[in-house]
Amino acid sequence: MEVYVDPDICISCGTCINICPEVYDWDEDGKAHCLYEEVPVDLEDCAQEALESCPVDAIKEAE
Ligand code: SF4
Repeated sequence: MEVYVDPDICISCGTCINICPEVYDWDEDGKAHCLYEEVPVDLEDCAQEALESCPVDAIKEAE
């Protein structure tokens, strides 16, 4: 899976990074971003859980 964070929507709540720090981290602007272009298969479950837990739906799965 490929995921990305829309920085215009992210409110920097930290939920995704708390749930899945292997995949999400802060960028230099204080917004979350995804560390991978293609999320490794063994991290997909936590990447997906974080996506579903974002309160403002800022994490998108690439088509
Ligand atoms: S959970 Fe959503 S709003 Fe919160 S830091 Fe992550 S991407 Fe941003």
